[in-house]
Amino acid sequence: MKIAVYPGSFDPPTYGHVNIVERSIQVFDKVIVAVATNSSKQTTFTPQERVEILRTLFEKEPRVEVDGFEGLLVDYVKKKKATAILRGLRTVYDFEFEFQMALANKKLDERIDTVFMMTDAKYAFYSSSIIKEIVRLAGETRGMLPPIVEERLKKKIYSKKGR
Ligand code: ADP
Repeated sequence: MKIAVYPGSFDPPTYGHVNIVERSIQVFDKVIVAVATNSSKQTTFTPQERVEILRTLFEKEPRVEVDGFEGLLVDYVKKKKATAILRGLRTVYDFEFEFQMALANKKLDERIDTVFMMTDAKYAFYSSSIIKEIVRLAGETRGMLPPIVEERLKKKIYSKKGR
């Protein structure tokens, strides 16, 4: 069974992330969406909230598992008996960072490969941080986020603003 781990912040998940997951299960038997819980990044949603949102998004897809992880990614990949790390690529800017990470992870465990999936052109500019900025400025985000994510993000951002 070919298992891939798709790690990330998913703060929050966008249609760009959803698209990568949906396409990846055509390539792998099982994909584990792994929410990084020890990231140094300031996040809008707690790790538990992000896991819960992702579980709801993929509840009808038995080949997608959602989990939180901390510590070294390669250790988590081994623990889950996966053989690949899955990452999405949008721009040259992504490439620089992803290239370094892929080489670092390969150095840590040469049996684990990073597999990249190119964004669907219509999602190429979708990033969690840009979408959060649009919501903060009360812009239109229709079609960028699954409805349940959009609703929760608006609630979160507007309740913070009101304080
Ligand atoms: P991280 O902090 O690990 O980069 P993100 O949630 O920002 O976490 O991204 C997780 C992965 O999803 C990364 O590989 C990123 O390139 C990919 N990704 C994010 N948005 C898109 C998109 N619109 N299209 C394709 N891949 C994407």
